[in-house]
Amino acid sequence: MPIADKMVKMVEAASMIRRMFEEGIKMREKYGPDNVFDFSLGNPDVPPPAAVKNALIELINSKTTSHGYMPNSGYPHVRQAVADYLNKEYNVGLTSDLIVMTAGAAGALNDTLRALLNPGDDILTPAPYFVGYNQYAFVAGVNLKTVESFPDFHLDLDAIEKAITKNTRVMLINSPNNPTGAVYTREELMGLGKILEAASQKFGKRIYLISDEPYRKIVYGVEVPCMFDVYPHTIVLTSYSKELSLAGERIGYLAIHPKAEDAAIIASATGVTNTMMYVNAPALFQQVVGQLQGVTVDIGIYKKRRDMFCKGLHGAGYEFDVPDGAFYLFPKSPIANDVKFVKILSEQNILAVPGTAFGGPGHFRLSYAVPDKTIQGSLERFKKAFDSVK
Ligand code: PLP
Repeated sequence: MPIADKMVKMVEAASMIRRMFEEGIKMREKYGPDNVFDFSLGNPDVPPPAAVKNALIELINSKTTSHGYMPNSGYPHVRQAVADYLNKEYNVGLTSDLIVMTAGAAGALNDTLRALLNPGDDILTPAPYFVGYNQYAFVAGVNLKTVESFPDFHLDLDAIEKAITKNTRVMLINSPNNPTGAVYTREELMGLGKILEAASQKFGKRIYLISDEPYRKIVYGVEVPCMFDVYPHTIVLTSYSKELSLAGERIGYLAIHPKAEDAAIIASATGVTNTMMYVNAPALFQQVVGQLQGVTVDIGIYKKRRDMFCKGLHGAGYEFDVPDGAFYLFPKSPIANDVKFVKILSEQNILAVPGTAFGGPGHFRLSYAVPDKTIQGSLERFKKAFDSVK
């Protein structure tokens, strides 16, 4: 094998996703793009707000725009802008030295996991979960352990309490959630905070909470509680990939609660892990987002699609709760084998992802980060697929 033994499995898993992507391209060539209904990717199609373009134009024309290296944790004025925004929103007393600008939420996760965990330590995360976590854990040389959620995809606190062991170093949560769209309530999160504190005391070592929040702003009328209220030993990380539709620009940040145990050490360690991997977050887009704190895409577009898609799929017979956030649906597969059902959908030119890929077998994931007409055009085909197995 020309590649490292430990990479073989990871490459196989990645090529499964690539094969799906390639199947989509082949289908579009064969049937024409309007006859393929691709719900497989969480790649925002809503254009970034005009403010992004305006900020870019202004920066390009400005003589003071910087394209050089900066402190590896990011431009001080951008980190200050992020801290000011979070303090205004959540009143948490953040200082700019507790913010690290990163290459998206993925960069922030990689930085934080590498900074916090020793090889062999465990991350605990509720299933279903975002597939990228497998890769980030692999790269950090640590174990990703999962714990089942309730059938409505909310946190099963008793199960979490039982699943924490002496090896658990990090609890990783993601709300609004990919793939389920669930948004955890303040009550369940406060319960989680208590469990983490008690477990830290029991095992005599600090368990940190990492809150992965790239969908925080994509939410439909429910509260997304501030995670810093839940547990002081929390690192919040996020990106502008979804809320500003800038996924390809690779820009995000991590923020450490000022009262987290060893907050200053973690801040400098995450700055160093950032440096080890990609030196710093992209310079131009740091300067763009520094000006755009609190700006988002039009969330109403996603809400309209969610409502239309849910109504259509419920009408066709699919079972699921209407999710409160993100841009995913996670319906029950009408047959137990979700991989097989996704194949049946593909015979209708519909591309979806089996729930098994997210640790949620018996379901499938649909991303509605697609034009309205893709949703409208697919509904009859979803019904045919459903009826064919009933
Ligand atoms: N976390 C979750 C839950 C995601 O869904 C994604 C991307 O889809 C990421 C992290 C990575 O986001 P980014 O593109 O900002 O690195």
